[in-house]
Amino acid sequence: MNNIKFPLFGMLVFFLLFGCKKDKIEYIVDSDFEEYVQRFINEAAARGVEIDFSDTGLLIEYSDRIVDGASGYCYLGEHHIVIDKSEWTALTDTQKEYLLFHELGHCELDRRHKNDQFENLLWESLMRGDPLVGTQQNIPVPYYGFRKNYYRDELFNQNTSAPDWSNPTFTIDDISAADKELLIERQNAPRVSEAPAAVGENFEMEFQINGINGVPFITELTWGSGSQKFFVRIYRNFGTYIGALENGKDQQVFYHPTKDDLDKITVRQKDGLTQLFFDDSLIYHFDELSVALSNIKLEARNGSDVLAPSFSIEKFILSKLL
Ligand SMILES: [Zn+2]
Repeated sequence: MNNIKFPLFGMLVFFLLFGCKKDKIEYIVDSDFEEYVQRFINEAAARGVEIDFSDTGLLIEYSDRIVDGASGYCYLGEHHIVIDKSEWTALTDTQKEYLLFHELGHCELDRRHKNDQFENLLWESLMRGDPLVGTQQNIPVPYYGFRKNYYRDELFNQNTSAPDWSNPTFTIDDISAADKELLIERQNAPRVSEAPAAVGENFEMEFQINGINGVPFITELTWGSGSQKFFVRIYRNFGTYIGALENGKDQQVFYHPTKDDLDKITVRQKDGLTQLFFDDSLIYHFDELSVALSNIKLEARNGSDVLAPSFSIEKFILSKLL
């Protein structure tokens, strides 16, 4: 995603563009992209920035060839954006918005990549992009839920101050035993697969686990309903992705280097937020589920989807928070 074509590398394409670009300033946007361009104009207007393509034109089109493995790119100074078709169809609505806002950030706002991170490693800008070093490549921009507003602010105003969520203060001790009402308890199971009812909006799931360092491929926790879920995926040789699964499409929103050496996972949904703890330390917080909790799964598998025999759940507790 997000490659800028700099002059030397883009030379060939640059000349081709002279051959096919219209003499007149024209607005040619494939209908698949129009909605997101209108959102860009509206979000700018809401922040006092007027976007008007009548002076520059705008060309947004599909390319069927892979371009440096990018989902899309902008020819700087050209008001020309190219999107990879196969990537586009796999994206969620939020990811599509993110991609086009990023490319319009280059093409219309004349912004370059900005790779500063807050102390908790979250990106300061949705203009994050190449070159990325080390594990930076693994960390997505958490353009999702309540964080979207900050990233839109920053896109149109680089002097936007740091949001509250860059320095969260939630701790495992915020909730005491007296604040919990036990709903489900299981012990010594190879996996958790539960379909609870009437859990309510404030709840906590606690998993005491054994043997994650012997899991060949993935340890996966999902919770939500049939089609709308959050996930925590701990990959053996890679680390942890946290994200949302919506109507069959994944959106990763956070990466954490934990890949083994983990004994306890706690998920707490309270007052409109989800807090995730590993071994009682806050890892990430994000939105609450948009659906009632009716499905919980935790299991560890090898690369062929077979349960890993080394892994077990010593104790699982689902509680309602009072
Ligand atoms: Zn970019």
